[in-house]
Amino acid sequence: MSPLEVHTSVHREKFMRRIYRRGAESVFDIPYENYLRTELWNAIRDWVIKSQSGKCAICDHDAAEVHHHDYEEATLLGLRSSGLVGLCARCHNLIEFDDARSKRVSLIEKREVFEHLASEFTCLRQEGFRVVIEISKLTINLEYIGNKTFLQFISCSSLAYSFIIKLFLHSEMAFPLPFGREKLKQKSGVVLTLRESAKKMATVKAAPASIQIKLTKTCAYPFEASLRDFLAQEPFVRVVP
Ligand SMILES: [Zn+2]
Repeated sequence: MSPLEVHTSVHREKFMRRIYRRGAESVFDIPYENYLRTELWNAIRDWVIKSQSGKCAICDHDAAEVHHHDYEEATLLGLRSSGLVGLCARCHNLIEFDDARSKRVSLIEKREVFEHLASEFTCLRQEGFRVVIEISKLTINLEYIGNKTFLQFISCSSLAYSFIIKLFLHSEMAFPLPFGREKLKQKSGVVLTLRESAKKMATVKAAPASIQIKLTKTCAYPFEASLRDFLAQEPFVRVVP
């Protein structure tokens, strides 16, 4: 018996007894939505995610969902794991929906998208998320200069968001609440102020491929150094000199 088979055996027996009692002959006789609410499926999903150490099979984010490469009986009953893969919500979304936000139906097409994304991420790992930083008087500009397709895994907006949160946690910097990623895309940007005096220090704006930090004339906070420190700790980011 495979490890998945062992892990799910009690749930499978219970599941089969329940569906037989209700007159069903196989897993295909019950609505799929009901199947997804069973302990059997929970046990399968947990096992798949644990078997990947909790990481998405495409990128390095936390796996939160399990995607089906196939819906064969052995897969649905937890007898075989080859048709299942743990993914983060974003990668799963990219597989399930096309650019026009229509749901993909073909399992072959979804499998192709999965393979494509996985190979794109391998390239990203090798090449890195390459950015350049330019400083002019009171402005720090960060520009992404790598392959545009990598922006589906990491965006400058999400980097800027994490950077601001980190500033907030580790420095005297504050920002107006509520604060969300979308605030960075607005014309006004996100204003960072000193926590003590509420004095304006900088405005941060971000797009998928760029970040702009405008400092006030009296800004005394070392934004450039802390941005570089932050980027140095991001696993795939490479600041090009
Ligand atoms: Zn992912």
